[in-house]
Amino acid sequence: MPSHISHALLAEDVAGDVGALTGVDPAPTDRLRAILVTGAQGPDFFLHNHRRKPRGFRYGALLHRKGNAPLLASLAHSAATGDREDLSAYALGYITHVWLDRLAHPYINWSAGWRGTPDSHPDRPAMHAFLERLIDVQYLRRHSDLSVAQYRFVDRLPRRAADFFRMRPALVQALRAALVSAADDSQLPRRLLNALHDGLGFYRYTEAPPERYFVLARHRERRGEVSSRWLSLVHPPESLISVDALNLEHREWAHPCDNARRSRQNFEELVAGARERSVRSVRIWQTAVEHPDAEHLRAILDDIGPENLNDGIVGDPPCRRTVCSPLPLIELYEEIKLHFERHTRA
Ligand SMILES: [Zn+2]
Repeated sequence: MPSHISHALLAEDVAGDVGALTGVDPAPTDRLRAILVTGAQGPDFFLHNHRRKPRGFRYGALLHRKGNAPLLASLAHSAATGDREDLSAYALGYITHVWLDRLAHPYINWSAGWRGTPDSHPDRPAMHAFLERLIDVQYLRRHSDLSVAQYRFVDRLPRRAADFFRMRPALVQALRAALVSAADDSQLPRRLLNALHDGLGFYRYTEAPPERYFVLARHRERRGEVSSRWLSLVHPPESLISVDALNLEHREWAHPCDNARRSRQNFEELVAGARERSVRSVRIWQTAVEHPDAEHLRAILDDIGPENLNDGIVGDPPCRRTVCSPLPLIELYEEIKLHFERHTRA
């Protein structure tokens, strides 16, 4: 998951592209736009399901490994026979999530490292999410010249998880088509709703926090009340970000699983690739909704393919990551915390 704002921006762009292509805006109302932005979070919603039980957390990890092609084919089948508008907006967003994750994760993993690599620093595992927040801030500025507070991500989401009640049977069915373990999970409808509730709560809680949030969080970390991970879950103040998270300098990087796959693409170019790929997939998906026969549903499976969302080159299991060259993120992480600590003492 590049972070939620990057995913939302891409989905909104692709919705515009597809509208321009077909003469139909797939997200003409606020409600549909909210469903589009939720779809754009893909399986990440499940990863925020920490509080409410039964939890759906594990589906977040599983769907980053497999099942997205059958999930989208199932949604097309449901859209053809029922709730077409909502499911079309949701699927469009979801498709953009798949492509952005696949194309951007190798760059993010290369630039952030992962647990134990390239060092065993206790904050290393948090650098992935931290970098994604930095990317959000810098990409939003380049894309729309807005700050995170001005973009108001939370206002783009559904106000209540209840907005999803109508779509829930189709989403449950899609998850069951995607994952064997979901097929015999009798609690799945509850887990799905819990993930939506907790996800909406998480986004609300972490949206553009004021300065005192950072000061207090640092204080609580010092007292051992919160984990050092807290800073990787919020967008840090733009003025404190001193790294080129978007790779505008075209630093060379490689796929973490394959040192020979080198690139100098920056994040904007990766998004452009995901946008192009998503438009193609959305059109194939829409055609299958118009003609929901075996051939057209098969076309979705072929188009989306089995590649996972974590490395984008193989299915399940993921490839073994071996190479990376992180940005000075640990240093920046510490610097930002110290900034707010000095602020407390002053
Ligand atoms: Zn993701």
